[in-house]
Amino acid sequence: MSDDASPTQDIRDSLLVPAMVLAGMAVGLVAHFAGQGEIALWGYGLVYLAGGLPAGWQALQSLFREHILDIDLLMVLAALAAALVGAPMEGAILLTLFAISQTLERRAMGRARRAVEALMALRPDTALVRRGDVVAEVPAESLTPGDVVVLRPGARVPVDGVVVAGEGLLDEATLTGESEPQHKGPGAALHEATVNLNGVLDMEVTRGLADSTVARMIRLVTEAQAARAPSERFSEWFGQRYTVAVLVGSAAAYLGLLWWGLPHQTALYRAATLMVAASPCAIVISVPAAILSALSAAARGGVLFKGGAALETLAEVKSFAFDKTGTLTTGRAEVARIVSPDMSEDAFVQLLAGLEAQSEHPIAAAIRREADRRGLAIKEMPDIRSLPSEGIVSGQREAAFWAGNPRLAKTMGADPEVDWLAEIRAENRTVIYLGQGPRVMGAVSVADQPRLTSAAAIAALRQGGVQTIAMMTGDRRPVALRIGAELGIRPDEIHADLLPADKVDLVAQLAAGGKLAFVGDGVNDAAALARADVGIAMGVAGSEVALQAADVAFLAEDMGRLADAHRLSRRAARIIRQNLIFAMSAMAVLVVGALAFELPLPLAVIGHEGGTLLVVLNGLRLLNDPIRRGRNPA
Ligand code: ADP
Ligand code: MG
Repeated sequence: MSDDASPTQDIRDSLLVPAMVLAGMAVGLVAHFAGQGEIALWGYGLVYLAGGLPAGWQALQSLFREHILDIDLLMVLAALAAALVGAPMEGAILLTLFAISQTLERRAMGRARRAVEALMALRPDTALVRRGDVVAEVPAESLTPGDVVVLRPGARVPVDGVVVAGEGLLDEATLTGESEPQHKGPGAALHEATVNLNGVLDMEVTRGLADSTVARMIRLVTEAQAARAPSERFSEWFGQRYTVAVLVGSAAAYLGLLWWGLPHQTALYRAATLMVAASPCAIVISVPAAILSALSAAARGGVLFKGGAALETLAEVKSFAFDKTGTLTTGRAEVARIVSPDMSEDAFVQLLAGLEAQSEHPIAAAIRREADRRGLAIKEMPDIRSLPSEGIVSGQREAAFWAGNPRLAKTMGADPEVDWLAEIRAENRTVIYLGQGPRVMGAVSVADQPRLTSAAAIAALRQGGVQTIAMMTGDRRPVALRIGAELGIRPDEIHADLLPADKVDLVAQLAAGGKLAFVGDGVNDAAALARADVGIAMGVAGSEVALQAADVAFLAEDMGRLADAHRLSRRAARIIRQNLIFAMSAMAVLVVGALAFELPLPLAVIGHEGGTLLVVLNGLRLLNDPIRRGRNPA
């Protein structure tokens, strides 16, 4: 069951093996019942060659090269033992069922894997590149950051980039699962493999093909398969130990039966039956079948788990902590009010936007948009320092310009509680103070709306048995309370005025009481994402930081999928448990049958292969588990 692509592996993946095995078996059976013993033997011989040789060869290779005992070896040995005691028909039946169920198994598992790889097929092979006045068609691999790609209506985006000219609607469903087309204009990020529906766009390439979204997704999901879940490691560990035990046990049974006085033939036949009955195939395949299916179903809904371990931990999570700005809220805030007694609103906004020119914070983006709306040119301020969860400072000491929250104002020696700002403070919106040294020059308030999907997601989580919900924000408490009230988060669940380090401490504190997931957007909360048992990042289609720090990444900014992902993980855990219990009981029944009730070899084979297929099919049910796509992602 190794994964490398050797020639033997290729042979075993093709339909040639089951075809030859079935042909041999048909010849064997017809000849047998027609009384043509000799011809029947030729048929069985074909079955042994096609069904046993590749599997046996590969099992020997992994035994000698990697010192791994392949479970397939047990099947081949049992078939050989059957032939030795003059029961080649039984051995051939074993190999036939074995080959067929392996083919079905491989196809099923391949289906789970291909769900993600299908994305590869979606990207175009070539792109139109603008070089000076000419537009040339070039292979997509040759695109490098800085190239300008021309996207005609209907074109797929070849690599990640940003719009530099034009606007239009983009269908991102392939990537994020979001069915509503997104409007994109200059400055907006475009993602590989999405479709330009109607605009004529110029896009500047930001990442080459190897680093673009799809490549990173595929890498994540395939690397993820190496990050094995605890139950997966258990089933493998158990499989190895147990396979040795089966070999030793069968040998012991053979010797024991001889000593008991049974003839050599019978003893060997019974030992072979025991070997088949006791093989742990079902146990070893039961966990990966479920995990791969769940990971693929999630990936199709735009939810990337970094491996089975993240899936299993999420299933155990009882507490969810949320970042506010950009996570529970849209982050697409609007400037609501401006108070600037000593200068015009335009001059004030221009100064503020100059401070925020480079910040990736949603508030900074809101301020830059306000400057654009007023037709103001943004002049970037020199010597900028960004203080996470506080604001921005430009310059030194007394002369420094700064913009941020009340804490930053106090740090700069200014008083944010001045009377003339009482009104804007009372609005319960996020207030950004602007000042120079100890002097407050004015403030703007920013209205940020909860995402339409947030309230429902929190309600669904509570309904699904989540015990603790917490909102963690660097914003002021009154603002947090207002947003919390709209989302059904109680005041005692709200933690405000936090610095990034406070979020990490709080996450650690809550995690002491049971597994905790932190949901954030990667802006000022990457540390909390990394500290939580499960870090869940929202809307990562563009953000490298969040993608790195998180265990689970949502490509779309859609809270609705959170409860679905949680439910999917718990369903996967349930199915894994079912599978393990079923596989162990089935094995126990077969072993007892083989030891105490003279179970015939063909029946042991049917029981064994049937059980293995059942657990694979049970795991595959997860493949069709939908991650809901909220119609309105805001
Ligand atoms: P949240 O925890 O809700 O996501 P943050 O920790 O990112 O919020 O920010 C907390 C507060 O810090 C904001 O409400 C704002 O007052 C201030 N702040 C953070 N970044 C900036 C910035 N670039 N410009 C102005 N203020 C900022
Ligand atoms: Mg945030």
